[in-house]
Amino acid sequence: MLVWDKDYSKLISYIKIQKEKPFLLADENTYEVCGKEIENKLKELNINYDLLILPRDTHANEKHICKVMLYVDHHHMMVSIGAGSLTDIARFIAYKMKLKFISVPTAPSMDGYASSVAALTIEDIKTTVIAKTPKKIFANLEIIKNAPDILKRAGFGDLIGKYTALSDWKLANILIDEPLNEKVYNEMYKACENTVKSINKPDFEKLLLEALIKSGELMAIVGNSRPASGAEHHIAHYLEFLGYEIFHGIKVGISTFYVIDLYEKLLELNLDNIDEYLAYRIDIDQWKGEIKTHFPKNSERIIKENIERIKKFNDLSFRKDLIERIKLNRHKIYAIAENLLDKKEEITKACNKIGFSTNPEDWGIKKEDIKKAIQYALYIRDRFTILTLYQFLGILKNF
Ligand SMILES: [Zn+2]
Repeated sequence: MLVWDKDYSKLISYIKIQKEKPFLLADENTYEVCGKEIENKLKELNINYDLLILPRDTHANEKHICKVMLYVDHHHMMVSIGAGSLTDIARFIAYKMKLKFISVPTAPSMDGYASSVAALTIEDIKTTVIAKTPKKIFANLEIIKNAPDILKRAGFGDLIGKYTALSDWKLANILIDEPLNEKVYNEMYKACENTVKSINKPDFEKLLLEALIKSGELMAIVGNSRPASGAEHHIAHYLEFLGYEIFHGIKVGISTFYVIDLYEKLLELNLDNIDEYLAYRIDIDQWKGEIKTHFPKNSERIIKENIERIKKFNDLSFRKDLIERIKLNRHKIYAIAENLLDKKEEITKACNKIGFSTNPEDWGIKKEDIKKAIQYALYIRDRFTILTLYQFLGILKNF
């Protein structure tokens, strides 16, 4: 899907042979960075196009989606020139209006370029909606290399989150038989390894963007976001929900270290001797009260989506089965934790090298909010992660 395109000549050739009229969507920054160059090339070849330049601080919200829709028509092909928000707007509209969609990334800043969903902010709440996967992604290496450092840090943060996402996938495979595609798992893992090793080397940005795009392609192969998203993304989403507006990948990167800590703590538990947890029960009324407090805007939906899961946690035969499974597979579980512990040192060093502080306070995130996110992030999605395991055992509150 990704085409490295030194001077956008491949993009122009591609556009030229399509019957649809290209609709270039840029913002004030990305227009300067490369939108103008693409526009000039289309002009030189007398290729008809439309262009819309959105403001610098564009968010993928109702206002901007609506604005773009005012100008887009059924004979268009969407060409997004930008990173997160612009790509999300373009791919959502392409899906809604059944248009072809081409992406021209301007920074290796997030994992969603190849994705089939868009993260939109609707009524101030981040919402994931179905969207169009790009037909092609045309990236100019010079532009990607010269992207602002903060965007590279965000992309790197999003990428290291794959280590914990893959760990959660394995954990779910071991404990609840969720299917694990080994080939996809290994491919994602290898892409992370290569990128982490390339830090401060000339091909870092290239490998980073390739790995981020790959995560989207691998999601499409397995039909869910397991290869790319686990507890670290849920914690990041909760932080978003608390109103932290820093880049998605920064939040994911910070959360990744907390998830690694949770895995590390597993090593202190004697998983062979956990029968004491059999008696644990969640007080449902108290739980509902907590959800109302910690999800004030959407507590009804969160309760509805999680109530059956909570009841299952309280079911004796379910508890017996899962506890037996944990005991039986304890060595496999310890191995996941040990592997992450090994990685921790390496990715900490890598973060230092690119100036990514793993201390949330340096990014203006309060430690107490991280604590809250760890307690409540698991209710954002019904997906088995390390957070679910801790909640099941009744020890999530200890963090
Ligand atoms: Zn992500």
